[in-house]
Amino acid sequence: MRLAQLGEFGLIELLAKQIGKPTSKNVLIGIGDDAAVLKTRTKLLLVTTDTFVENVHFKTRGISYKALGEKVLAANISDIAAMGGTPTYALVTIGANKNFQAENVELLYAGIKQLARKHRIDIVGGDTISSPKELIVSVTLLGEVEPELLLTRGGAKPGDLVLATGQFGGPAAQKYRVTRCTLRVTEARTIAKSKLATAMIDSSDGLMRSVREICRQSRTGAIMWLELVPRAAGATLAQALNGGEEYELVFTVPKNKAVKLMELIRRKNRVKVTVVGEIRPASEGLTPADAKGYEHFVK
Ligand code: ADP
Ligand code: MG
Repeated sequence: MRLAQLGEFGLIELLAKQIGKPTSKNVLIGIGDDAAVLKTRTKLLLVTTDTFVENVHFKTRGISYKALGEKVLAANISDIAAMGGTPTYALVTIGANKNFQAENVELLYAGIKQLARKHRIDIVGGDTISSPKELIVSVTLLGEVEPELLLTRGGAKPGDLVLATGQFGGPAAQKYRVTRCTLRVTEARTIAKSKLATAMIDSSDGLMRSVREICRQSRTGAIMWLELVPRAAGATLAQALNGGEEYELVFTVPKNKAVKLMELIRRKNRVKVTVVGEIRPASEGLTPADAKGYEHFVK
């Protein structure tokens, strides 16, 4: 059925039914009122948003809408995880042409819902708008973190090692294809709870870009041991360094604590962790201009 036949309220009703009742007792009001009402606790509140636009982030030809839904939520979950937190509530905004098939919106939500359930996230609202042409999917995700476990991009110190989970460059060779991704929420919690790391970021815009961001926010430089960067099968070095669209964790740890943290992650999460570089004073090594990742508004 085309969205025009269903109408905005028809679609919202359909989606609300598909999303179902919230599972958390802290959702006092979910979808249906002017705003969701959430009971909050004493932890820090994390808020992040990510938007995917047709022909910018994905093409619809041959697309799996379910995978697209998963991907948009995944990008947000990864951001909450990279702060050391856990995700709690999501808002989902859909902009679609009036001739768009409602069934495909349902598929999109099936993907969102599946991943949300896995991470115990309640979808508590959103917005539904008509788009003149391209499909737009936007997710805003809330999360929480204990104040003492918060990890930002800004805490790295010269002498810290730069560590990364997993491998790089996998999705880069398949531009515009919606690739399945691994999320590192439990690994991020291990890192946060260890209190050994000094800074953390997710690698959604590419490994080099992530390190550059840590350097910028921490006012440091860094050197990268490029030959140590774990490459996904078939990925070139450039794809591994700048590809992005993968949600690995890039984090820093004082040299004398690195082995302890790496062993902790290996034991708790059974995930490969690699040393890829070292934080240096701001005057040395990787400067912000050296690394380029995915940037919007550039050719
Ligand atoms: P308002 O006009 O007050 O913004 P809406 O008609 O846009 O209200 O939304 C009604 C309810 O449905 C709200 O609770 C809103 O959060 C929810 N909602 C609207 N669109 C979506 C969507 N795409 N996904 C989930 N919830 C939605
Ligand atoms: Mg609205």
